[in-house]
Amino acid sequence: MSISPLMPVYPRCGVRPVKGEHCHLIDENGTRYLDFASGIAVNLLGHSHPGLIGAIQRQAETLMHVSNLYGSPQGEALAQRLVDTTFADTVFFTNSGAEAVEAAIKTARAYHQAEGDTSRYELITFNNAFHGRTMATISASSQEKMHKGFAPLLNGFKYVEFNDLEAARAAIGPHTAGFLVEPIQGEGGIRVGTPEFLKGLRALADEHDLMLVLDEVQTGVARTGTFYAHEQYGIDPDILATAKGLGGGFPLGACLATEKAARGMTFGTHGSTYGGNPLAMAAGMAVMDAVANEEFLAEVRDKGDRIRARLEQFIGNYPDLFEGVRGMGLMLGLKMTVEPRPFMVHLRDNHQLLTVAAGDGTLRVLPPLVIGDAEIDEFFDKLSAGAADFKLPETA
Ligand SMILES: *Cc1c(COP(=O)(O)O)cnc(C)c1O
Repeated sequence: MSISPLMPVYPRCGVRPVKGEHCHLIDENGTRYLDFASGIAVNLLGHSHPGLIGAIQRQAETLMHVSNLYGSPQGEALAQRLVDTTFADTVFFTNSGAEAVEAAIKTARAYHQAEGDTSRYELITFNNAFHGRTMATISASSQEKMHKGFAPLLNGFKYVEFNDLEAARAAIGPHTAGFLVEPIQGEGGIRVGTPEFLKGLRALADEHDLMLVLDEVQTGVARTGTFYAHEQYGIDPDILATAKGLGGGFPLGACLATEKAARGMTFGTHGSTYGGNPLAMAAGMAVMDAVANEEFLAEVRDKGDRIRARLEQFIGNYPDLFEGVRGMGLMLGLKMTVEPRPFMVHLRDNHQLLTVAAGDGTLRVLPPLVIGDAEIDEFFDKLSAGAADFKLPETA
């Protein structure tokens, strides 16, 4: 037998972390890495946040899991907190981002069907989007590399160019149920939605009674300097998918919706065994306690602005490597003139700095939101040293 016990779907690297300390990871050999990947925008509070650990410990000792057959004081409390903090009137809890997007897709379809209109089932989505790895969420993405081997895809998605409002308008037809869009494409390469585009989608949705569904799985939970990124565009969605940072490292996602949008989500229409269990709710509440306040959000914006300004200055020294800086708050990307992956590997293996490669030739910089000046300085030391001794691969 040659297949590994861990199904070999990930090209895993040689770093094997066994411990986390604030913004650093320590691997089996005791090597310390500065973690500016954060488990891909998950570990908002770093790796050893006492508030998050304490909340999970206390809840684990009290009650870990019960079925959604019973009343949920813990779920009601976190849902109320999200409703008070956001546009939403109601919340469905999931265990992952893909499940949150799935719930959002179902909610959008059910809205029209509850209205008696069964012809409106199609969501318009955008090239290079990433919405997860379930059948529905790969079907929602135009990226063929994720489709390969899994045909047939689910019906009901139409792809158009991101940031192209006219293409979105032209794609509306008798089957259109709404739009599904990331305000900033994450995996796609920190491609920031323009205000005209996102406001335009909101206006089109209003005009045609369509659902505006935002995938804020990566942009959400304070990452961009507001609780959700859409707040900075001055628009509200009808439905929003959130996950990644929401549990701070504990698996937790949610589908948020307005009362109107959730019209079709009645008794028996959806469910999840683990979704919203007391342990996840405790983690989510601890994260909200830490990040859902103006003081914390202002710090994220300030740190984001300072890192961005230093990055802009830094890339000026390496015009043959970098083309520009992208992003919002602490969701940042370096657009490179070369393939980002070899540089990411070089930073990781030779300078113990963890970042994430993304689409569109971009290197993602996703630090824990709790970084301080020391971590920011350490990041620039490592990045500068890494750019200085990086050799372009011969075959690039
Ligand atoms: C990560 C991500 C998902 C999928 O989340 P999982 O927890 O991996 O299922 C969906 N949408 C976006 C925008 C993401 O970044």
